[in-house]
Amino acid sequence: MTLLITGARPYGEDAADILVEDGRIVAIGEDLAATGAEVVRAAGLVALPGLVDLHTHLREPGREDAETVETGSRAAALGGYTAVHAMANTDPVADTAGVVEQVWRLGQQAGLVDVVPVGAVTVGLAGERLAELGAMADSAARVRVFSDDGHCVADPALMRRALEYVKALDGVVAQHAEEPRLTVGAQMHEGDRSARLGLTGWPAAAEEAIIARDVLLADHVGARLHVCHVSTAGSVEILRWAKSRGVQVTAEVTPHHLLLTDECAEGYDPVFKVNPPLRTDTDVQAVRLGLAEGVIDAVATDHAPHAVEDKETEWASARPGMLGLEQALSVVVATMVETGLLDWRGVADRMSARPAAIGRLDGGGLHAHGRPLAPGEPANLLLVDPGTRAVVDPAALASRSRNSPYAGRELPGRVVATFLRGVPTVLDGKAQK
Ligand SMILES: [Zn+2]
Repeated sequence: MTLLITGARPYGEDAADILVEDGRIVAIGEDLAATGAEVVRAAGLVALPGLVDLHTHLREPGREDAETVETGSRAAALGGYTAVHAMANTDPVADTAGVVEQVWRLGQQAGLVDVVPVGAVTVGLAGERLAELGAMADSAARVRVFSDDGHCVADPALMRRALEYVKALDGVVAQHAEEPRLTVGAQMHEGDRSARLGLTGWPAAAEEAIIARDVLLADHVGARLHVCHVSTAGSVEILRWAKSRGVQVTAEVTPHHLLLTDECAEGYDPVFKVNPPLRTDTDVQAVRLGLAEGVIDAVATDHAPHAVEDKETEWASARPGMLGLEQALSVVVATMVETGLLDWRGVADRMSARPAAIGRLDGGGLHAHGRPLAPGEPANLLLVDPGTRAVVDPAALASRSRNSPYAGRELPGRVVATFLRGVPTVLDGKAQK
């Protein structure tokens, strides 16, 4: 199949045509022609490499009422993603080769994005003994990212052993940094506002203490560590220090931690309840600067669909978590591009190249992700209309759940098309054939 995308602006730079054959980009340049090609008119649209998410909760197996691999894959494609890492806190937990292969196969069947399973670090996410890390790495799913996300690997001796094992697999431990003894009953960021609202606080120190401990452990054993959803200014400081010492640590920030603050809790609307919690304006500024500087490597959605009965209830009993896949790029445009903190090449680096490298998806071959827009590379790309602004309507989302914190908010940057190995998974009418 031959595809000709005309007049797009790769990385927001000069307009060019992009010619795709058999899943690969074969040429980028002016006035390309190809007989019999399917033509996509992309004048004014920015072309970026397909996005890669390190942190998606797809809920299948176990909570298909909240999301399935297929509905989550559709949400991802609509957000411009071509690969997503599916977190392990399913039911059953993805702690064996059998479960990760099941999730991987469901992703292949849906065929909208490459679904890359994350393996649990500990059996049943219980934090007591290591899961079958080697068997998951050797499985058809080729697991390289291991995480108990939702739970912290709190036992330092177990964390050390996990880092040692995963190092031998060329993998990485992605830590949900939350010292559980400091967050018992926690409902929101601990500060003046939590005291006034009468909600138990989740102190910044509970995140920072684990990050500090784990960068020291990673340094000691010479392993790779990845920190999930960094949310505080102090965490950015610790990461900067660790990187300056050569520790192999990477980190991600979510779109919601780039945009929203604990002020959202004022109305007690549980759509804003999330773990780690929304922080202060000072923290938001610090994570934006950390992402711009590269101390935070990647944007990861922590897309966390929840059924209505689990979310539309009292704040204290609501599950933490927010949808993210469909609005992630728009939030990054609003918080990082329109503020001048990142250009489009920076967006491509933080949302495609670096997350793919962390997940070891960037090797050669047609199934690689995070590769540049260049001849010879897999044709994983998106087209975004940077100027269009739209109000987010949760009812219009592809996710099976509706817990979007951006409901009613106007955001810039609409994804018009997404291509997975040259095949359109999303193709808006605006890009006329
Ligand atoms: Zn988490």
